[in-house]
Amino acid sequence: MADYLVDLRDVRFLLYEYLGVERLCGYEKYREFSKEVFDMVLDQALKLAKEVIAPINDVSDRVGARFEKGKVSFPKEFHAAYQKYCEGGWLGVSVDPEWGGQGLPKTVSLATSEFFSGACCAFVMTPGLTHGAGHLFETFASEELKAIYVEKMYSGQWAGTMCLTEPQAGSAVGDVKTVAVREGDHYKITGTKIFISSGDHDLTENIIHPVLARTPDAPPGIKGISLFLVPKFRVNPDGSLGEFNDVHCGNIEEKMGIHGSSTCTLNFGDEGNCIGYLVGEENKGIVYMFQMMNEARIGVGLQGLALGAAAHQQALAYARERIQGVDIRVMKDPNAPRVPIIEHPDVRRMLLFGKAVTEAVRGLLMKTVFKADLAEVTTDDAEREKCNGYLELLTPVCKAYASDMGFEVSINSIQVLGGYGYCREYPVEQYARDAKIMSIYEGTNGIQALDLVGRKLAMKGGTLYMNFLGDLNKFIESHKSDPKLGKYVSAFAEGKTLLEEASNIFMTKSLTGDMLYPVSHATPYLRMFAEVVCSWVLLEQAVIAQKRLDQILQEKGAGDEAQQKKVIAENDEARFYAGKISSMRFYVTQILPDVKAKLDSIKSEDRTVLEEGTLF
Ligand SMILES: Cc1cc2nc3c(=O)[nH]c(=O)nc-3n(C[C@H](O)[C@H](O)[C@H](O)COP(=O)(O)OP(=O)(O)OC[C@H]3O[C@@H](n4cnc5c(N)ncnc54)[C@H](O)[C@@H]3O)c2cc1C
Repeated sequence: MADYLVDLRDVRFLLYEYLGVERLCGYEKYREFSKEVFDMVLDQALKLAKEVIAPINDVSDRVGARFEKGKVSFPKEFHAAYQKYCEGGWLGVSVDPEWGGQGLPKTVSLATSEFFSGACCAFVMTPGLTHGAGHLFETFASEELKAIYVEKMYSGQWAGTMCLTEPQAGSAVGDVKTVAVREGDHYKITGTKIFISSGDHDLTENIIHPVLARTPDAPPGIKGISLFLVPKFRVNPDGSLGEFNDVHCGNIEEKMGIHGSSTCTLNFGDEGNCIGYLVGEENKGIVYMFQMMNEARIGVGLQGLALGAAAHQQALAYARERIQGVDIRVMKDPNAPRVPIIEHPDVRRMLLFGKAVTEAVRGLLMKTVFKADLAEVTTDDAEREKCNGYLELLTPVCKAYASDMGFEVSINSIQVLGGYGYCREYPVEQYARDAKIMSIYEGTNGIQALDLVGRKLAMKGGTLYMNFLGDLNKFIESHKSDPKLGKYVSAFAEGKTLLEEASNIFMTKSLTGDMLYPVSHATPYLRMFAEVVCSWVLLEQAVIAQKRLDQILQEKGAGDEAQQKKVIAENDEARFYAGKISSMRFYVTQILPDVKAKLDSIKSEDRTVLEEGTLF
């Protein structure tokens, strides 16, 4: 099986040269850290990802989670890896030291998550969900519950899940029927949850479920949902494990991918003996759960990035080695030397698609999460509000675009490998199968598009969107006359204007009571939005890269084009910066024009989608 490959140089570029993440160390919360510490964390994470987690990706796929005699087991190789993962404190990279975590910025944690998820995405789901559930309880549970559960979850001793979905309540989460009846200081829980990732397994001695349920007198819909902490095994007052809490796994799903993740049907209270503890107040469960859902949405986008990036690296390595055909300019010469496929223009097109999209998505996710870090430390109220606004606005874009692109880049990478890409000998077909779920779980991408169009654009009187546009305009003003990059900035400015036009059409339609028309175009609109924001993110990076490249060329005395090409071919750093500019050029010229076609469709006034009788 091929080695797991990661673009660490790009991760470092984004952290230090693009975002300047080390400036967080100037704030009290992160004053004990430095760039050197961040680098050490990245190196250690990558070592673990390559040496311990990537080797179990194959067994994760071939053996997967098993369900026998009512119990779920993970492949035995998962156990040693999980122990090392927890011993290294990787579950709590960004967790507050008060709860036993390392207290690092979320942006650094995100970078380590890419390494782990790309190495074996199914394996990382258990610790990922445990972190999210732990944070949910840390934020909203009572002091008593926190004291018992939170630290043991953050250390990985006990695992966590996320229990929303029921047979009749998938996207429509407000339709959950699981019942919680008060009984003294706790509630009796009865109901069935389906599709629960890591709902049962043998990695940990206990599993703690955050469960959405309704009390008997709760109002209907989303406003009648409460959140409960439901352990698999009850916990005695001294913290030791007590009796089984009547949470049975009925089955696990056979799936297209992520075989190493158990997707469980969980029956709560089959024997009338399942108890749960209320988290926060009754009927406010969905408000609390949104914290975990929003974090998970970024996390799922990150999974998409990780798999797309890993697939692209495989395709790149393969294309350098695989010899096939001759240079098209000498195709009639039977004696022409055979070339590696990376020299064929169509293969280069596919590889540049993988590179440009991966770098764009990585930049988008890191920029968004960095806003969350800044929001936490800044003392400036206006900056905090703006950062939080970015996070709100961009979360559905991160989730949907990154997951769609993770799948597309994986499929594209299969194509680069040709027939071998379709075979199990190379990992790209597994990356594609594993990546597909990411556009479905954690709110399908259709639901993300509705969130962007129906909620986020108009949120706080449209200020989130206006602030975002304001920043795009500032960037355009500052760089439109750049002698080298100006023409790409102009193309981006045009794309941004088209996005504004689409937003204005939606606003006018909504104001005139025609909300169905925007809703029917929400998914292409989200794609337009993502392509504009990704162009911006790549252009911001290109501005930095161009400066650095010019500096190197000047230092090397490379005046004419031939000398510059030689320096770029021979110098790793010059090649990296030139590569960054190429990614931007490819994205802005080959992908961004898509927004024009999408706007044409939005402007068409065609209502085929909405009419009766168009589907048989
Ligand atoms: C492998 C796996 C792991 C999962 N892990 C978890 C987990 O850990 N915890 C958990 O709670 N759930 C989990 N889920 C459930 C997952 O979140 C749901 O499958 C998802 O939310 C969609 O629900 P559904 O499958 O019922 O599809 P449906 O809701 O039936 O949707 C079907 C299609 O209709 C569309 N649709 C539905 N409603 C609307 C609407 N109002 N407007 C527009 N389009 C709509 C959807 O976008 C989708 O394309 C998991 C699922 C899988 C397959």
